[in-house]
Amino acid sequence: MSEDCIFCKIRDRAIPAKRVFEDDLCFAFEDIDPKAPTHILVCPKEHLASLAEADASHEGMLGRLCLVAAKLAEKNGEESYRTVVNTGAGSGQSVFHVHMHLLAGRTLNWPPG
Ligand code: AMP
Repeated sequence: MSEDCIFCKIRDRAIPAKRVFEDDLCFAFEDIDPKAPTHILVCPKEHLASLAEADASHEGMLGRLCLVAAKLAEKNGEESYRTVVNTGAGSGQSVFHVHMHLLAGRTLNWPPG
């Protein structure tokens, strides 16, 4: 737990979010500022600032994020979707608690900006 981490506060229900999934390793909720009709954030329960801090002990958790995102896409009826993990301020990371964006429901151009 990082005391000033907004996603730790969502995990602990200290601040509200539209939660759509939770298991032993991760939790997922709707993005407050959606960039697509479906925009869900899948986060590990463990506070990890970014992928750059990950090591072999995080393998299972990181795999779970991918599988949960895929399941949530399927549940939402999305055949095409994008998963994104921004790492570092230069990539657009603004919340330093690892999270996987699940974006779907519109044409997703490539490459992203
Ligand atoms: P990133 O810029 O990759 O770190 O993504 C952070 C995401 O968290 C952004 O898309 C924000 O809109 C989203 N976000 C920030 N605060 C909240 C919140 N309280 N509830 C839901 N989503 C949030």
